[in-house]
Amino acid sequence: MTTGDRPILLIEDNEQNRYLLTFLLEQHGYRVVSAADGARGIAAARSLAPALILLDIQLPTMDGYAVARALREHDALRDTPIVAVTSYAMPGDREKALEAGCTGYIEKPINPQTFVAEMERSLKRPGDALAGASPSVGGQP
Ligand code: MN
Repeated sequence: MTTGDRPILLIEDNEQNRYLLTFLLEQHGYRVVSAADGARGIAAARSLAPALILLDIQLPTMDGYAVARALREHDALRDTPIVAVTSYAMPGDREKALEAGCTGYIEKPINPQTFVAEMERSLKRPGDALAGASPSVGGQP
């Protein structure tokens, strides 16, 4: 398998945010697969082996913290970077996200100028086996 084909998985219930983040990431050459809730996100993560998971914390039914914990229960997803994306700005939220298994944290509102670079900081963490997420040029739209 060519890790270069591994997508970014976006778990986000808000359609406008899905659109914006997908647009930004595709502009940078990433392939993006999105899921609108935690259950679908977990299923997608298990079948796709994404290079990185962007995880909205405010999700219906199952919040992002619960989703992160569930993702980490699967051996194949144990080392996958998970970046929490949240509009909560309460002290302790970052710690809560890290405790749940997230490796990074980006606050909403999304800054289109910096978002991809912020995400890439988690992508390039040492030890995460991520040759796979390097942007590919000339891939499928
Ligand atoms: Mn949300």
